[in-house]
Amino acid sequence: MIKQKKTGQVIVISSPSGGGKGSVINGLLEKNKNIYLSVSTTSRPMRSNDIPGVTYNFVTVEEFEQKINEGYFLEYTNYIGNYYGTPKGPIKEKISQGIDVLLEIEIEGASNIKKLIPEAIFIFIMPPSLKELVKRLKKRNTDSNDKIMERFHTAYKEINEVSKYNYVVINDNLEDAINKVDAIIKAEKCRVDRIEEVYLDTKEEEIHELLIDEELDNIGLADKI
Ligand code: 5GP
Repeated sequence: MIKQKKTGQVIVISSPSGGGKGSVINGLLEKNKNIYLSVSTTSRPMRSNDIPGVTYNFVTVEEFEQKINEGYFLEYTNYIGNYYGTPKGPIKEKISQGIDVLLEIEIEGASNIKKLIPEAIFIFIMPPSLKELVKRLKKRNTDSNDKIMERFHTAYKEINEVSKYNYVVINDNLEDAINKVDAIIKAEKCRVDRIEEVYLDTKEEEIHELLIDEELDNIGLADKI
């Protein structure tokens, strides 16, 4: 009766550093096998827990700028002194195959995606408190104190941008947060603007017959009373 759009959806997830989006995304990917996590390209130095080609594709500043000129990116930004960008090619490919694409990007990138793909789903993962945010930033132990301070200030500014998103999920309990994001994606699939066509799945004559039969049944029932 209803033909829904076959294309995948673009899901944008942002959160300040320390918001815990990494764990939420991992849990979501475990639960939902039809989501492709976009691998960004970055010029930032690799961290000990990074896996090239998996967490990011690492390039030099010069290589990144060359890719900008070649039109390689759907969006890109300079975040705390490093380039980050979403490659266009894989996104187009997955969407057309009906696979949902998840972009884990910061707010400026999200706002650029909103201009390009307004129907994308924008989800903001919020840390439960600023105290918890500082704790998580310090626990990482990968950045210098200056870098942690810079990340905290950026994070604080980012939290004020939450109203630009469609959904906010507070990450105070990981399992709950994963379930909420999964539920949002499932609900979005039921939106009426994902209906391409409403059509008759039964021949008109058959429907008439069914209607007439039912009418007769009802008369019979009425007579019996
Ligand atoms: P990190 O250095 O901690 O891995 O990432 C820093 C920030 O860059 C995070 O907020 C992350 O979401 C964002 N980011 C990662 N990849 C991209 C991208 O391709 N585009 C944009 N705009 N932001 C990104």
